[in-house]
Amino acid sequence: MRGRELKPPLRPAQPRPALASLPETNKVTKLAQARTALRFPVNPDTRAFYRRFYPDTSTVEWNDWRWQMRSRIRSLDELARIFALSADERAAVERHEGALPVGITPYYASLMGLDDPNEPLRRTHVMTGAEYIRSPGEADDPLDEDHDTVVPGLVHRYPDRVLFLTTGTCSTYCRYCTRARVVGNPGGEYQFSTRQWEKALAYLEAHSEVRDVLLSGGDPLTLGDDKLDWLLTRLRAIKHIEFLRIGTKVPVVLPQRITKDFAKMLKKHHPLWMSIHVTHPAELTDEVTESTSRWAARPC
Ligand code: SF4
Repeated sequence: MRGRELKPPLRPAQPRPALASLPETNKVTKLAQARTALRFPVNPDTRAFYRRFYPDTSTVEWNDWRWQMRSRIRSLDELARIFALSADERAAVERHEGALPVGITPYYASLMGLDDPNEPLRRTHVMTGAEYIRSPGEADDPLDEDHDTVVPGLVHRYPDRVLFLTTGTCSTYCRYCTRARVVGNPGGEYQFSTRQWEKALAYLEAHSEVRDVLLSGGDPLTLGDDKLDWLLTRLRAIKHIEFLRIGTKVPVVLPQRITKDFAKMLKKHHPLWMSIHVTHPAELTDEVTESTSRWAARPC
């Protein structure tokens, strides 16, 4: 069931209480958050985009990564409100079902060609009919990760390193994803949970040959600060693990996620290696300069 009945945003936007009605401590927190959000850059094209398509959205909301997640474009109606859809795109979205749904952060949509179906970022995130062509030799699991899965979500192919799938959620769903069978489908093949993580951690504790853990998914940076902090702390406590890496597209499609508090939390776990997924030069905006600068191992 897709098209007009695509999944709604994760949580409906909640009405915000007026600042004056909040207790004093909440007011201080809200004002601090607002000041932080206003310090995050908004490039001129993106600003023009959100004023056009999200006129009731403040800069504070726009720069709030949770607002961006809640407001992801996930339905044909939302796509059609923003993009001049081709007949092919429209039919492909209507036909879609299962994993790898449409999902685009408003920020990332602001970088796309609204009138050009062949603009590169749009081609990689708005589905077309070609997505349904199945060629000989194509597989649901093209990297054959299932074959090397030792406990659910943990792929151990090479002797000293593992792939740790932490979540099935991404902020933006790429049509070329090699894990299309897994992502964006909470009721699907993989159920990610702390209980599942515990099984993976027990495996890692028992396998002293593993020196290198790559966290991926889905995108680990869609996890809450506390949850990711917890997982990194547990991994850091395993003495034979020397390298922790995170594979992520979030700094590019949801740069607002890299708050100073989040960067500070990650700094506790340094050295952390980040594999940042960049597809096209058009993604390299002021916002991405800011988010990736915050990664650097220097005082936040
Ligand atoms: S962000 Fe990564 S895991 Fe998520 S859909 Fe894109 S390629 Fe797949």
